[in-house]
This record gives sequence, C-alpha cells and structure tokens, in this order.
Amino acid sequence: MTFETIIGLEVHAQLQTQSKMFCGCATEFGAPANTRTCPVCLGLPGALPVVNKRAVEMAIRTGLALNCTVRTTNQFARKNYFYPDLPKGYQISQYDRPICENGWLEFKANGTSGRVRIRRAHLEEDAGKNIHASEGAGSFVDLNRAGTPLIEIVTEPDMRSAEEVVSYLKSLRDVLMYIDVCDGNMEQGSLRCEPNLSLRPAGSDALGTKVEPKNINSFKFVKDAIEYEIKRQTKVLTEGGTVYQETRLWDIERSQTVVMRSKEEAHDYRYFPDPDLVPLVIPDEWVEELRSTIQELPRDRHQRFLKDYGLPDYDAGVLTSSRALADYFEACATLFAEPKTISNFMMSELLRELHQTGTTVEASPVSPERLVGLLTLVHDETISLKVAKEIFPELYAGDKSAAQLVEEKGLRQLSDEGELLALVDAVIERHPAQVAQYREGKETVIGFLVGQVMKNSGGKANPQKVNALFKTRLA
Ligand code: ADP
Ligand code: MG
Ligand code: ZN
Repeated sequence: MTFETIIGLEVHAQLQTQSKMFCGCATEFGAPANTRTCPVCLGLPGALPVVNKRAVEMAIRTGLALNCTVRTTNQFARKNYFYPDLPKGYQISQYDRPICENGWLEFKANGTSGRVRIRRAHLEEDAGKNIHASEGAGSFVDLNRAGTPLIEIVTEPDMRSAEEVVSYLKSLRDVLMYIDVCDGNMEQGSLRCEPNLSLRPAGSDALGTKVEPKNINSFKFVKDAIEYEIKRQTKVLTEGGTVYQETRLWDIERSQTVVMRSKEEAHDYRYFPDPDLVPLVIPDEWVEELRSTIQELPRDRHQRFLKDYGLPDYDAGVLTSSRALADYFEACATLFAEPKTISNFMMSELLRELHQTGTTVEASPVSPERLVGLLTLVHDETISLKVAKEIFPELYAGDKSAAQLVEEKGLRQLSDEGELLALVDAVIERHPAQVAQYREGKETVIGFLVGQVMKNSGGKANPQKVNALFKTRLA
C-alpha cells in the first residue's frame, strides 16, 4: 500500500515590539535572568494586563500580508495549563475569535507552485524558559520571555512533502521579515515551527491520525523530522499498527522523534474569555491605514525582478529573499546597467564574503557604489572578471576603491593590440605542433594557445582579444 503525507503547520513568530504583550517590560533577548519582569508578567495577584497596541498593529499587518480577513471584534481567552514557565497558570491567547482568518501564502517546490491556506493567525503571549542544569544541579526558570507577544499562524493541512513545508516556511519567514514584524531567527527561537503530520492511503479523502513533532529550530531539522516521521508512520501502518495522536520531541543527537506526551484536546485547556480584557474592537479605518504601510512583498518583488531586470527565476528568488539584499541589488542596478552581471557577482562573491565574516548585507563593508566601481572596470575591459574576483576579498577587507587597488597592484589588463600580437606570435612560434593541429581543423586547440598567452602575461592579457588575434593570425 502506498501512503500520502498530509502536513499542516503551526508557526509561532515573536513580534518585534519594544515591550511585552500585556505589560511595559522590555522584550530584548539575552538580558540577565528575571530582570525583565513585573507583577503583570510574573502573574502576581491583582495585576492587570493592558494590550500592547504595537503588537496588535503587527498582527493586523501580518494578516494583511497573508491575505487574511481581519476580525473587527476580537477576544482574548485564557488557555489553562500548569508548567513552571507559565506563572499565571494560564496563557493569554485567542480561541474562537482570532484576529486574522482565511488567508493564503504561495510556495514553490519540486518545480511547481501552490497555495497553502492560512486557517488563522492569532495573538498570544509567550511563556518563560525552563533551564535544566546538567548533572542534577537543579532546574531554574527565567521569566524574561514570559509575556513576549507572539503571533501563531496556523495553516490548513495543505502540504504534502518536507520540501513544500520548507518552501512555505521560507516564504512565510521572508514575508514576516519584509514587513518588519519578526526577525525570523529560528536558532534564537523568534520563529518556531510545529508541523502536524499524518499519512493516509493514497486516494483516500479522510485524514489520518496526526503527530506533532516539536523542538525544531532550523530548516534542516524541519526537513529531517518530517522525513523521519513519514518513514516511522509508514512502517507502523504497513505492519498493521496504529499511529497514536501524540506530541513527539525531535531528538537532535539521535535524529529521531521520541514520544513526549499524548496529545491534549482543546477541552483539556478549559479555554474561556479573559475577564480582565474587554473585547478588542478594530475599526476598518485602522486596518486600511495599516494596509497602506505594507510595501512590496517578496513575491511581488520577485516578479518585478524577472520583468524589470530580466533575471532568471533563481536569481530573482535569491535576491528578493531579504529586503536588504534586494535593496542592495537595486542600488547597484541604478548605477550599472548589467543586472545579470551584478546578480552573479552578488550571489557568488559578495554573499560568500558576508557569510564568511558573519556580516549582514546592511552592514556590508563594500557599498553598492564600490561594487559597481569594480564591475565597471570589468565592463570597460580595464581588468578581467577573473582579476575582479581575485581582488574582491581585498576590496571587502579595506576601504580602497577598485580603481585604486588595480593601479597599486598593476593589474590593468593588457589590451594593446601591438603588445598582444607580440605575445600571440611568440606562442605560435613555440608550439608548431598545436598550430598545425588547429590548421587541420581541430579548433579546440585554440584554448591551449590562449592559455599560453595568459600564462606568459601573468593573467593580464585580455582573453577575448587574444582569442580573436589567434583566429586572424592562423586563418
Ligand atoms: P489541534 O487542535 O490538535 O492543534 P488543529 O485542528 O487545530 O489541531 O490543527 C492544528 C494543525 O494541524 C493545523 O495546521 C492543521 O492544518 C493540521 N492538521 C489537522 N489535522 C491534521 C491531520 N490529520 N494531518 C495533518 N495535519 C493536520
Ligand atoms: Mg496544535
Ligand atoms: Zn512585565
């Protein structure tokens, strides 16, 4: 029997507000434990929550960017459970009246594209962190994160493979970062992903029992955990066993999922409207005002890059994956009219240096102006592309212009016809056998001959010109 994989995703994104969801405590990452707390986020008796307007704005903007409807009358609800990192004994979330509903997001995988329907996106607060010290030295709790605003984005079960999930997740992350609501950092936990996965016999319409792997903090683990679960469930079902609805932990060391707990049902949480918070009413004018703050989204910019710059789909995808990268490209493109040359150089040389030095493109030591300076030297044949690539690390490490570097190092390309001819003739004289082969019709030998000139000129000869000179000389 063959099975079809069904996956729906729940993503928690930390909203980039200065302060927490229901109190004024700062949200910054990495402060000393328990120093960003107050009676509200510690859940002390009598402390009352106040909704953070910025968080609501970010949630609305997220909904709009994900093609959702924004609900006019919202309700916060208490989700009750007991765990040491949740000081109130309940989490303030949204239940039957979430802020955003019924949206969609495009994804691309395995050469096709599709839409993942977004069921809902709701506001809630984050929990603190339990810290388990090694070797029985005790467990601790840090409540700095408790009360940080989150938006939880839940899809319909529309994905069918790990590739589709990764693609959807990347698109979602790009959108959230483009509209400045989340920093997208999976390792630090600002973006957390919980796939729900089930199998069903191919051709069936019913949904199978789902399993929810947790503890997934990179794109690689998303893919690995899903692939592992597909194998595991296929084996269970093929052997006539039962898949149980459970939450499973992704064990990084052993690359497998292990049972954490059997799945709670909604009624286990005893949801009810939070009596401390009045319904949140969102006027249409506010939604429209926020709609106007959403600029071009990644998928639109991608399309425009194809159209305006004639870039291949792959290039447009890489360059629009972050707003800063796309801005950098466009800054170059207004100065230099060869988009594909810019794209190639950015995707190989620039991204490599940025990656190796752990630098973001916003902080790139090579500005668009300096990069274009270098590409212009290639364009007007002052240097070859090979030399441009060779000196790029120096351009990156210092603050000299490309022209300065080329002068100082004497890298100017040799384009003078007379000098090149002398080099070409010397090679013709020294390699009569290859010359004879060429004349007999073995045209590929020209590569060898050009190579000799390049070698003799210390890489400075203009290869196109040398090639042309050989052709006329040996015609
Ligand atoms: P729960 O109440 O257990 O959290 P939901 O119905 O709210 O379950 O769905 C949570 C996520 O799981 C959604 O993204 C949904 O699309 C997905 N999902 C629901 N049922 C299945 C299933 N049988 N197989 C795979 N994914 C599912
Ligand atoms: Mg769930
Ligand atoms: Zn607080």
